[in-house]
Amino acid sequence: MGIELLVNMAYVVAAVLFIFGLKMLGSPATARKGNLVSALGMFIAVIVTLLDQSIIDFKWILVGIVVGGAIGALVARRVEMTGMPEMVALFNGFGGVASLFVGWAALYDMHDAHTFVLITIVLSILIGGVTFSGSMVAWGKLSERISGKAMVFGGQRVFNILLIIAIIVSAVMFTLSTGPATSIYLYLVIGLSLLLGIMLVIPIGGADMPVVISLLNSYSGLAACAAGIAINNIILIVAGALVGASGIILTQIMCKAMNRSLSNVLFSGFSAVSASGTAAKIEGEAKAMTAEDAYYVLEAAASVVIVPGYGMAVAQAQHVVKELQELLEKNGAEVVYAIHPVAGRMPGHMNVLLAEADVSYDLLLEMDAVNPRMETFDVAIVIGANDVVNPAAREMEGSPIYGMPVINVDMARNVFVMKRSMASGFAGIDNPLFFKENTRMLFGDAKEMLGNIIKAFS
Ligand code: NDP
Repeated sequence: MGIELLVNMAYVVAAVLFIFGLKMLGSPATARKGNLVSALGMFIAVIVTLLDQSIIDFKWILVGIVVGGAIGALVARRVEMTGMPEMVALFNGFGGVASLFVGWAALYDMHDAHTFVLITIVLSILIGGVTFSGSMVAWGKLSERISGKAMVFGGQRVFNILLIIAIIVSAVMFTLSTGPATSIYLYLVIGLSLLLGIMLVIPIGGADMPVVISLLNSYSGLAACAAGIAINNIILIVAGALVGASGIILTQIMCKAMNRSLSNVLFSGFSAVSASGTAAKIEGEAKAMTAEDAYYVLEAAASVVIVPGYGMAVAQAQHVVKELQELLEKNGAEVVYAIHPVAGRMPGHMNVLLAEADVSYDLLLEMDAVNPRMETFDVAIVIGANDVVNPAAREMEGSPIYGMPVINVDMARNVFVMKRSMASGFAGIDNPLFFKENTRMLFGDAKEMLGNIIKAFS
């Protein structure tokens, strides 16, 4: 059996592991294993590639593995769960720039390259560049190193269109000049695509950022795919295509959960829309209550729905939530969790946290399963959620989130909202829920507040 056949068989095994890993990521019960299965696939792919290719110098590869591995392990250990989207932004960016370098480096090894190969090289450089600079801006926005607001200016679209035309012209000139690695046109493609990445992400802001992260993830896959074609590496093509496709599917899921179209997310500037929103002014007074008062109501409740949001992640309240769930169950109440698809800062954020606290998956209900029976719950406890329970999405035409499907907690008999202040959520808009007749506010850190209610129980 030839070495080439062996290598290709190993690549097929790796690709199958990727696909099964991805499938397992679809359910919280198997997600952890899915991650391991995909990692095993990548391990096989890397080892086989190292054995197969005519490596010139293992020394630098080792240096890369040690330094990169050490930084990656350190950062991954230190990152807070709430900082995960920023970390993913960095991953995407580095994936993009890696594809840019792979494509560029391939030129040095190429004489009389076929036009098709040159096109794939230019694509890997172009998409890689856009992904890198776009991801860096997204990272800066999410980590609040730069303003998270949408930055829009007059003539932005015209500028972007001219930029894209300039990139296409440079790319065509580069391909026609049969692609030397030091071509001025290539430098132009690199520089302009880096600029395009910045221009594409600055007009996006606020609650739309996680969607952009997912889209950039898809781009990083496409860049890797193009780089794979450029250097004729099957597994890079397969892995890139899988990342590209899954990224775009996730982007679509997020858009649907926010009732937005992708073009609306990309081109309309969320914060800009919010600022000029014509939503009616919310009137009334929010009524606060103490943990002890909450205890009296909960003690008598027969059915409770818990709705977690970003604040539960900030407070790291998942373990105390589980404790309260057990106390309520011991007291004879039915307890379920209602999970909104975009609660928190990334899809599955709440599922991951609740899994960490060993909350049974059967108790996690999706929005569509829980909304029709919302009236039957004695109490809905909102823990650090805001936008995903905002009835303005249903009631206030003109609100930037009007039409977004939300969890209708205001339809439960009683609503307890745990948060520290009257501040708005990620979308930066007011929430009429806090002023409803059946709503009581439990002001304070979610973990502390839940602890106080638990104390009252015992
Ligand atoms: P929000 O960001 O709307 O609200 C979170 C709330 O938590 C805040 O109002 C804050 O109020 C409160 N909070 C913060 N820290 C604490 C704490 N320590 N204890 C108690 N409360 C706290 O979160 P949601 O989960 O409701 O909504 C997610 C948002 O993210 C949506 O706008 C969604 O569209 C957006 N998004 C999410 C995506 C995803 O994949 N998950 C993707 C795209 C967008 P206070 O400061 O008063 O405490």
